[in-house]
Amino acid sequence: MNDNNSHYNPVRVRFAPSPTGYLHLGGARTALYNWLWARKNQGVFLLRIEDTDLERSTQDSVQEILDGLTWLGLDWDEGPYFQSASLDKHVEAAETLLQKRYAYRCFCTKEELEAQRKEAGAKKVAFMYDGRCRELPASRVDENLAKGLPYVIRFAVPRDSQSTVVFEDAVYGRLEKKGQDIEDFVIVRSDGRPLYILSNAVDDANDRITHVIRGADGLANTPKQVLIYEGLGIVPPVFAHMPLTLDNKKAKLSKRTHGEVVTVAYYRRHGFLPWSLCNFLALLGWSSSDGREFFSREELIEAFDLSRINRANSIFNYVPGDAKNWTDPKAIHFNATYIRTMPLEQLIPCVKAELQNAGIWDDAYETEKREWFRQTVDLIRARFFTLTDFSTRGKCYFSDEFDFDEQAKKKNLSKEPRLREFLPELAHRLDSLPTFSGAAAEDALREYAEEEGVKAGLLINAARTAVSGTSVGPGLFEMLDTMGRQRVVARLMKAKDLIPEE
Ligand code: GLU
Repeated sequence: MNDNNSHYNPVRVRFAPSPTGYLHLGGARTALYNWLWARKNQGVFLLRIEDTDLERSTQDSVQEILDGLTWLGLDWDEGPYFQSASLDKHVEAAETLLQKRYAYRCFCTKEELEAQRKEAGAKKVAFMYDGRCRELPASRVDENLAKGLPYVIRFAVPRDSQSTVVFEDAVYGRLEKKGQDIEDFVIVRSDGRPLYILSNAVDDANDRITHVIRGADGLANTPKQVLIYEGLGIVPPVFAHMPLTLDNKKAKLSKRTHGEVVTVAYYRRHGFLPWSLCNFLALLGWSSSDGREFFSREELIEAFDLSRINRANSIFNYVPGDAKNWTDPKAIHFNATYIRTMPLEQLIPCVKAELQNAGIWDDAYETEKREWFRQTVDLIRARFFTLTDFSTRGKCYFSDEFDFDEQAKKKNLSKEPRLREFLPELAHRLDSLPTFSGAAAEDALREYAEEEGVKAGLLINAARTAVSGTSVGPGLFEMLDTMGRQRVVARLMKAKDLIPEE
């Protein structure tokens, strides 16, 4: 491989999804690696929709891919191109190969091929088309054409014992395959439609792709595609095949087995920050030389290198049915870390969008309540995993319509009937403080507990559940401070009704 060779400069890479379903995590990772390589080399990242499987390609799927990439922030410089728009170019390339005798017309009928297949089966050898049409004299070919006999176009793979197809993969190193082990593969069907393997290579050639970064499932096609390039007299791109991503039982990730968790849309819906998903995906199959894991966009562009893509399959650690870990715990950890540590200015717009979506946004959060909003987000983000947490677990800060957690109610409100008196009295004392603050509320609460001869913990836990509906969260007094006197007092009063009478 020679990256600096002028043929590979400027770098041009592509993401070439087939729009036959959803945007899969594996697809997003492929897009990300290509994008990183383009950005690192000030190159071009191109989007090509490989929609030649007309029956399975859908407009919805195209839209999902475009939306997913946009959400992830993987902006493309060219395209989207649609493969179906270039079919004539693919056929043209097949014609060129025919003219140069790198390809030939095969008139074998289905029945003849079936007979050959059976014969191979009887001899217990793998079937490989024996190339009998390769040697048809030109006169026979013309005769067949004149008769209108159907034919496919096959690539004429070099057959002599020394010929090998060699290519250098940036990840797997030098790979070679003997010509004798490659069948004369079909490049154009009898109805004139090119095969995918041809279309894909010809598009890469026409798009002047310098690096083909794709999943390791593409390795099987590569020797044939290198032959197509050579036949067309074009220098092949650098190939970099990425390891597959499997689940912890070594099964391929699929929506059928794993559900929505393998789709990018799922993370968007669950309140992931797009970059934290990118950062997580980057490490599924690549690692930095110093073992570092958290990277900003710029840092990852700088650190990324094809030579550090792993060969071993990567593991997406998700167990279907695990209630606690609704995706790979590492992904959740990444998102929580980003939420906790990212600059507040960057988090605020994401929280705004989340609250707007949930219908609990108040425009005053950008005017007179701006400071309060910033401090509140800063306080509660420390324990949150996703943006959705701001509108669910964090709802009590932004709305009076929050839900009560049954467990919390049972543990903190139901066990002590005297709380029916304690909470209103506490409310009254907080209401009467000359100035309301977390510290003043704490003093008042502790003093009152002592007077009643109960543990301060009883009142602390009860107050926490009364004002927030849960038994977890930031320190109670910080929480009271943030919520403000009016809300706290009203909620303590209201909680009385939740406490069963003796
Ligand atoms: N359309 C192919 C896919 O979605 C892309 C293969 C390639 O990148 O060459 O698997």
